[in-house]
Amino acid sequence: MPSGDRHARDLIWGLSSDALRGHNRRRVLRAIMVSPATQVKLAKFTNLSQATVSGIVQELQRDGIVVVDGTDSERGKKVSLTPVRGVAIGVEVSYDSIVVAARRVDGPHVEADGSSRGAEHGSQAWIRECVQLIKDVVRRTGLGESDIVSIGLGVPAGIEPRTGTVSQVAWALDWQRGMDPGAGLREHFPGIPVIVDNEANFAAYGEYLYGGGRNTETVLFVKSSSSVSAGLITNGLIYRGRHGLASEIGHLVMDPQGSVCQCGNRGCLETVVGGARLVEQVRRAYVGYRVDLPTSLANVVERAKSGDLLCRRVLQDAGRGIGMALARTCNLLNPEKVFVGGELGRAADLLIEPATEMMRQHALGGMFNYVAPMTVEASELGLQAGAQGALAFALNVDRAVDLKKPTL
Ligand SMILES: [Zn+2]
Repeated sequence: MPSGDRHARDLIWGLSSDALRGHNRRRVLRAIMVSPATQVKLAKFTNLSQATVSGIVQELQRDGIVVVDGTDSERGKKVSLTPVRGVAIGVEVSYDSIVVAARRVDGPHVEADGSSRGAEHGSQAWIRECVQLIKDVVRRTGLGESDIVSIGLGVPAGIEPRTGTVSQVAWALDWQRGMDPGAGLREHFPGIPVIVDNEANFAAYGEYLYGGGRNTETVLFVKSSSSVSAGLITNGLIYRGRHGLASEIGHLVMDPQGSVCQCGNRGCLETVVGGARLVEQVRRAYVGYRVDLPTSLANVVERAKSGDLLCRRVLQDAGRGIGMALARTCNLLNPEKVFVGGELGRAADLLIEPATEMMRQHALGGMFNYVAPMTVEASELGLQAGAQGALAFALNVDRAVDLKKPTL
């Protein structure tokens, strides 16, 4: 068969006469599509025995579907795909932005694009924007819409793990509890699975797989932009909780007398360090001065980076606020690594020191004194973490088993 004519969808969803063998084969194939890896790592990722993985890899090699890199030691040999048509899509929808990533399943190169319109612009608008961005990035991979294997959709809402529907959402959005945020994309891309989860869960997953969280057991990812959310990965699994509301750090109450939050409570972390709050602080301080007032968190970050002392102070204080919330969170979860991403991740050099200082003061000291101390770092994937995590997660869900309950 000429290389590249085979379709990834046929490979991972094609029916097999032996159901279990076919299922295991698909698991291994999907794992390789998520990331080429050694057989030891594939066994760990798929939860299959090394003997099973080894048998499947030999079979796939015989069929010309994978190659085993022979340059390294036996244990270090990487299994990767031969050319195959197929592109995986990851989408991260935030309140005020969208990021879409696309990657051919047989290669490492990620195409990404974004928009400054997001969920707050209304459902019709964000879905239209996503569809256009998906079409654009797919074209840039050299493949077409019919080659899309799966779409991961991260959204700024709590997602019920059993149903994939909304369990909690900001009042300001035109979303309702119980709705399925993936419905609009499914209409535009019929037949292609759209896997929905909270955007910070996907960001944590992306960082764990492709960013600074590689080879880490427990990863906490804090996404701090217009809203503040977090995702937790333990042993390769996204920890969601019963209603998909685990790790909602943005709604830890920091000041019971504070401002009212979009969730209906008062004094949540988001009311202290959320994007609107930080922009407002800078604008208020500059009232009466002849300076251009910042209109977005991105503006504040840019100004801080170019030396604006007021913006720097606002971001450093935000770091202290996040650090205080992290101290409480880490006393509960004790992660190995904490990543700060989202818009504030771009100002990590300003935030991380004050955040760590607060954590050292208020979290259990054993986390810092131990031989492998907990670290707080900037996200390596930056604003692409959510989209890349969505892409990998959706690719690894076996439609034949259960679309709504990813097996990772
Ligand atoms: Zn809240």
